[in-house]
Amino acid sequence: MFLVHKTIKKSYVTIFFEFPSILNLNTQTYITKVGANCRTTQWLRTVTQPFSSRELSPNSMDVKAKTKAAEKPSTCITKSCQESDGSHGSTAARKVATPDNWEKVLDNIRRMREGRDAPVDKMGANQCWDKNAPPKVRRFQVLVSLMLSSQTKDEITFNAMQRLREHGLTVENLLDTVPELLGKIIYPVAFWKKKVSYLHNTCTALARDHDHDIPDSVAGLCKLPGVGPKMAHLTMEIAWGKLTGIGVDTHVHRISNRLRWTGRKETSTPEATRAALQDWLPKHLWGEVNLLLVGFGQQTCLPVGPKCSECLNSCDKLCPAAGVRSSPAKPGSKSSKRTASVASQQAGKKKK
Ligand code: SF4
Repeated sequence: MFLVHKTIKKSYVTIFFEFPSILNLNTQTYITKVGANCRTTQWLRTVTQPFSSRELSPNSMDVKAKTKAAEKPSTCITKSCQESDGSHGSTAARKVATPDNWEKVLDNIRRMREGRDAPVDKMGANQCWDKNAPPKVRRFQVLVSLMLSSQTKDEITFNAMQRLREHGLTVENLLDTVPELLGKIIYPVAFWKKKVSYLHNTCTALARDHDHDIPDSVAGLCKLPGVGPKMAHLTMEIAWGKLTGIGVDTHVHRISNRLRWTGRKETSTPEATRAALQDWLPKHLWGEVNLLLVGFGQQTCLPVGPKCSECLNSCDKLCPAAGVRSSPAKPGSKSSKRTASVASQQAGKKKK
């Protein structure tokens, strides 16, 4: 039955014919064995759950609505919080082909990022924690900086982290800090009110369940309030030194799509981009690609008006999006000089 199911993946017909035997199986065992897709998984859970619990729903429309609603978040959270330990992210068959010239494109980005002078290099999550603090406290500070950084500029996060550290950035101390004061300290971080509540609830969970340390797995981190897969993977890398997945923020998402690193179709969410990248990008580059692309997105491949005329990937005709939404290069600008110097070096090499 598993073979037939794999052949006709989306068809429920196979399941229907094998229905009695499925019911004899533990549903979770079946799902694990066949690697059923999410719709099938949800459907199976619905049809195999005891009738008594199904009857709790007032009518079948509710069951349908709940099933639909449950598909989206549970899919994302469960899948995206999985850790990967293979050379590629996905243990399933690869869906995204390795893009042409990706090594050359990445190398060009490395060259453009040689100065390491983007906001993320000076004020990113890796620069916010107290290097003299005990390991547990350092790890906690990494997590807090990533929680604050969501939808917030690096400068604002960095300054808020400095104020928090002056106040005393430990689990115990934040638990003793009243929300009003915590709000004043982290303001003007985006969604600061919500983040005050996330921080307080996270500290409560860390004190209660983790001996004031942070969880050492993506799944554990994703259980904390306000922590999503991007934060979890970056926390694992920075705080624990473990590479579990690519941290895909808005810059990595946008640039990967512009470069067509996500396959034929554009991906609509950072999580879909992460899955696509992990399909083909060698694992030893997962850590590097986040920092490279974030800084590149802050300085050159901007969300609006990317500086294509200053970009080496445009010069080498390697970017499918080059010039589409570009802004003119400013003569004498830092990146324009950098591009000119790298381009002349390349020309010199070719002559030789
Ligand atoms: S050519 Fe333009 S769109 Fe393409 S990577 Fe460079 S800056 Fe971004």
